Amino acid sequence: MKGTVYKSTGSWYSVKAEDGTFYECRIKGKFRLKGIKSTNPVSVGDLVTFDVEDQGDEVRGVITDIEERKNYIIRKSVNLSKQTHIIAANLDEVFLLITLNNPPTSTSFIDRFLVTSEAYGIPAILLFNKIDSYNEEELDEVKYLAAMYREIGYKCLGISAVSGKNVDKVKELMKGKTSMFSGHSGVGKSTLVNAIEPNLDLKTKQISEQHLQGKHTTTFAEMFDLEFGAQIIDTPGIKGFGIVDMEKEEIGGYFPEFFKLKNECKFNNCLHIDEPHCAVKKALDRNEVAWSRYRSYVQMVNGEQENYRVDIYGE
Ligand code: GDP
Ligand code: ZN
Repeated sequence: MKGTVYKSTGSWYSVKAEDGTFYECRIKGKFRLKGIKSTNPVSVGDLVTFDVEDQGDEVRGVITDIEERKNYIIRKSVNLSKQTHIIAANLDEVFLLITLNNPPTSTSFIDRFLVTSEAYGIPAILLFNKIDSYNEEELDEVKYLAAMYREIGYKCLGISAVSGKNVDKVKELMKGKTSMFSGHSGVGKSTLVNAIEPNLDLKTKQISEQHLQGKHTTTFAEMFDLEFGAQIIDTPGIKGFGIVDMEKEEIGGYFPEFFKLKNECKFNNCLHIDEPHCAVKKALDRNEVAWSRYRSYVQMVNGEQENYRVDIYGE
């Protein structure tokens, strides 16, 4: 049978079969996925093949194969072993919630998020939340940022999880897809999820309460079906979203507006920093490339962010 992994607790995987039935599955003895080495061979979002085992009154399954992932996000443990943990696989999009203050989200944080999502190959959408609480000046700032990121090609929406403004548009974007919400603590992720689907709140709370009681030493991502026909992946307690190891020469490739100009630079390995006849710097002088984007880029090339780490659930 074929199904999708909705939950994993380390040794057991909750798999939803194509007919909607859930099976508790384990992994066949020596089963290991080709490709990356991780502490968990199977993750939430994986499409798997499994055999059903009828053991008296319990029907369980054994996962025998995993379909190649279209993408996956990882977390590396901070200890010396640097083990990789796959947080989730096969995402269709990631939403970044942004607030100007309470808490502040910097453009450098947004840009690191976008570079990471480009590197993972997952489309990113920017949601400027709490627009109900902004004064005119702040609304202008949101408009400016949204226009700037739209110009690069990212979808942007001003929303209010509290008033419900544009929440229907978020749902529209989520329909038929598997999504994840990211952003600093306090930007309104739980409030938004609750506005999208009030019934889901309970489940999310249950997980975090279990976590507080210390029943799990590690929290695991979980996928939820939403009533309007979408899936979200909740990653309770996960603060870091992937350290993507990249060479400084690669970073420009993840800034779409720089990448577009690359062939117009004199040197084909142009880093767009000190090189003569650089198309990116010319575009910058003409205000066709945003200074904040260029600044983020230079920070990343200079390694000012340790390992280009992007804390999608950053504090
Ligand atoms: P999370 O940590 O990202 O899950 O953030 P929460 O959903 O817990 O929200 C943090 C705080 O921001 C709460 O006090 C929310 O009521 C508030 N909040 C969330 N969304 C909005 C919004 O759209 N407008 C306003 N004014 N407050 C919001
Ligand atoms: Zn250049």
